[in-house]
Amino acid sequence: MSKPLRVLVTGAAGQIAYSLLYSIAKGDVFGPDRPISLVLLDIEAMMGVLKGVVMELIDCALPLLTEIIPTSDISMAFKDIDVGVLVGAMPRREGMERKDLLKANVKIFKQQGQALDQFAKKNVKVIVVGNPANTNAFICKKYAPSIPPQNFTCLTRLDQNRAQSQIAARVGVSCQDVKNVIIWGNHSSTQFPDVTHATLKGKPVLEVVKDDNWIKNEFISTVQTRGAAVIAARKLSSAMSAAKAICDHLKDWFHGTPDGQWVSMGITSDGSYGIEKGLIYSMPVKIGAGQEYTIVQGLSIDDFARSKMDATMKELIEERDAALQTCEA
Ligand code: NAD
Repeated sequence: MSKPLRVLVTGAAGQIAYSLLYSIAKGDVFGPDRPISLVLLDIEAMMGVLKGVVMELIDCALPLLTEIIPTSDISMAFKDIDVGVLVGAMPRREGMERKDLLKANVKIFKQQGQALDQFAKKNVKVIVVGNPANTNAFICKKYAPSIPPQNFTCLTRLDQNRAQSQIAARVGVSCQDVKNVIIWGNHSSTQFPDVTHATLKGKPVLEVVKDDNWIKNEFISTVQTRGAAVIAARKLSSAMSAAKAICDHLKDWFHGTPDGQWVSMGITSDGSYGIEKGLIYSMPVKIGAGQEYTIVQGLSIDDFARSKMDATMKELIEERDAALQTCEA
């Protein structure tokens, strides 16, 4: 058996973590031979709830789970971690403006970036889930200059999974038959779910669906507003599907993508496709066996796609500037 992988999950007493921890601790993400040391961070007021989560993890009797460390101490939480799954954030309350939420949450991610810089392993891999996920990841990266920028990502796999499932349902096939859907940009309602290069059983999705109007309107807006639709129905935000998407993201990052396939992740832009350098922007990536990813290059971008990609970039630039102003105040 190899050395345990030290995995931190923040927001560990929350609802996404409740759906996520079992899969990580069971070996579904990092592999059936990789022992896991699980560090669980939440705020002091949630320590009672977290105690219950720890009891349940113990009661699962999972052979790979060698250690569980519940804590509200940020320096202890980030110490020597290999993976940081940053879920914990303040939820949006009724009447709260998006910019107020951003202000509250980027401060959390500034502090966690500093903790990563100071305490985590230098090759730590970070996935930010707490919203606004792209901008929080940007701030985290900024305040952890000793860690390579490519080690910071944010979750847009849930959006990819939603898009893939919408196409599969429209045609009446399994979601695994739909490949290479792309999510461009922000994990928000400006994101651009793009099926121009996607395939269905090897044929172009556009040729199989044969309904440009549906693709450009209903499909895109269904994916963009799916999170809000789940909140409206459940009175709580997506948790089971978010946890599954986190597992998909991490599993692919650690084990690689199959030949000819790509996945979407929020990553640091290198300027590809005219996206401002340094932004955390969702793009299609291929991942090799060595856990390094590369942006898929050379995809054709038509005028429709260009305008959607620019609109979501504009929102990310505005968020970034507001976040920097908050952090530097
Ligand atoms: P939740 O409210 O159930 O849980 C959040 C947990 O984070 C709570 O236990 C809270 O105490 C904790 N927390 C707050 N501040 C913290 C801090 N400074 N350090 C550590 N823990 C802290 O929320 P949830 O449903 O689990 O969602 C968590 C986040 O994920 C939200 O921001 C949500 O909007 C976001 N989300 C993102 C995606 C995505 O695809 N990127 C999808 C779904 C939800």
